[in-house]
Amino acid sequence: MNDKLFRFLDLPRQPPKAVPVAIRVLGYGEISGDFTPAGTVGQAERCLDCGNPYCEHACPVHNYIPDWLKLVQEGRLFEAATLMHETNPLPEICGRVCPQDRLCEGACTLEQGEFGAVTIGSIERSITDEAFRQGWRPDLSGVVETGRRVAVVGAGPAGLSCADRLRRAGIAVDVFDRQGEIGGLLTFGIPPFKLDKSVLHVRRDVLEGMGVKFHLGVEVGRDIGFATLLADYDAVFIGTGAYTFVDGELPGRELDGVHDALPFLVANARRLLDDLPLPAALDLAGKHVVVLGGGDTGMDCNRTAIRLGAASVTCAYRRDEASMPGSRREVGYSREEGVHFLFHRQPLEILGDDGRVRAVRMVTTELVDAGDGRPRPRQVEGSETELRADVVIQAFGFRPSPPDWCAAFGIELDGSGRIQAGGAGRLPFQTGHPRVFAGGDNMRGADLVVRAVHDGREAAASIARVLAEPARAAPAKVA
Ligand code: FAD
Ligand code: SF4
Repeated sequence: MNDKLFRFLDLPRQPPKAVPVAIRVLGYGEISGDFTPAGTVGQAERCLDCGNPYCEHACPVHNYIPDWLKLVQEGRLFEAATLMHETNPLPEICGRVCPQDRLCEGACTLEQGEFGAVTIGSIERSITDEAFRQGWRPDLSGVVETGRRVAVVGAGPAGLSCADRLRRAGIAVDVFDRQGEIGGLLTFGIPPFKLDKSVLHVRRDVLEGMGVKFHLGVEVGRDIGFATLLADYDAVFIGTGAYTFVDGELPGRELDGVHDALPFLVANARRLLDDLPLPAALDLAGKHVVVLGGGDTGMDCNRTAIRLGAASVTCAYRRDEASMPGSRREVGYSREEGVHFLFHRQPLEILGDDGRVRAVRMVTTELVDAGDGRPRPRQVEGSETELRADVVIQAFGFRPSPPDWCAAFGIELDGSGRIQAGGAGRLPFQTGHPRVFAGGDNMRGADLVVRAVHDGREAAASIARVLAEPARAAPAKVA
């Protein structure tokens, strides 16, 4: 018998140890510990190296997972980091925030056989972190500079990935972002207990080392015109994200104590980044908090509210647990940290006294087959209840927030505001303007980091193609 092949039988799946709940809820540190070097190798050895790596297919950037797991087993750390970067410009970030249970690990053959998936995400993160610690950096020594210049609007995962690939293609890159730091939602949306902000500092250092230039605190359309970018650069990539809050239009949403999810998370992220005192609106000590919505943003609000001292946090969702759109892991962490879930509950109204929230009026729902594979919640007559609330956080999701200058440059939007890119007669991620490309949440609608990474990477490939073809790169500089 091949001992190595059956390693998974005597070595169970063992993610890095999480910080104990009682300690983790006292602060904002990442809750996942580090693998020991032996732990990384041991977990990598569980890979069956199956002929058809389902994990690779399920990974949106199609990482060469079994190949880098093999390099890890052989102790070839730098080669593993290099191979990881071949497909994924941000492996340390995806390793932390991807919902692996729905992607690579959910498709792992061991998971299908109920042996527990290889801990792919944790290994990807650990290897990249360790390689950076030991001084590994992308090798651009063979890159030939083309003399071409591209502007990237937005320093979120889509923009950063695009910038990485453009530099590897010998194209100069200027990245513009209205925020004072890179990362987009990685920095200002996703809380630090999922992604420590020092990870972004390292990545900024790596990208600057590759020659990427950041212009932060610069809003395109306000501080610099899009026409100027088109005039000054050979092409432009737009990765501006999706920030329009989905409004549940609940009566009472104007009451004091009602927050929208993103401003709530951003306010907390900013005061942590700038080391500012806790503002009164974020002081949840002793308060009963109700979070409305069951996605990843809702889970981040739940866990942030716990850390802000809430007496109780209740998360209400109108479908059942199996239908929750977010990562199972995040739901599990919320539960461990003391969040109480109410399923099959739809909010009808936020009730208040003297202008301040007092309760949420809810109705019970049952799921009915809508014929499209996703059951719809139907309200159960006579089942209304009131849930006490001192604070309500609305986490119903986000819609695209397309820049208002798009139309003037022939960049089309669909009915819901998503930038239209790719399709018949165009390169992937190319918009209606031949020198303008787009990807990430502004093209897909609110989605995942790894899909934004994919889009930035592939858009850069299209840009490099266009810039390599003089005839195609020729269109007038200003639309
Ligand atoms: P963004 O990250 O939104 O970046 C866009 C950037 O463009 C921003 O920095 C913005 O400042 C800048 N910008 C916009 N307009 C302009 C302009 N006119 N001029 C200059 N700059 C501009 N995904 C996961 O995979 N895992 C998770 O755990 C997860 N958790 C999440 C938690 C929250 C609270 C939220 C809101 C989202 C979460 N997501 C998660 C989704 C993920 O963050 C997004 O899908 C991803 O960040 C989209 O990347 P992007 O580059 O398209 O946009
Ligand atoms: Fe899994 Fe995400 Fe890494 Fe792909 S990028 S291997 S889906 S953790």
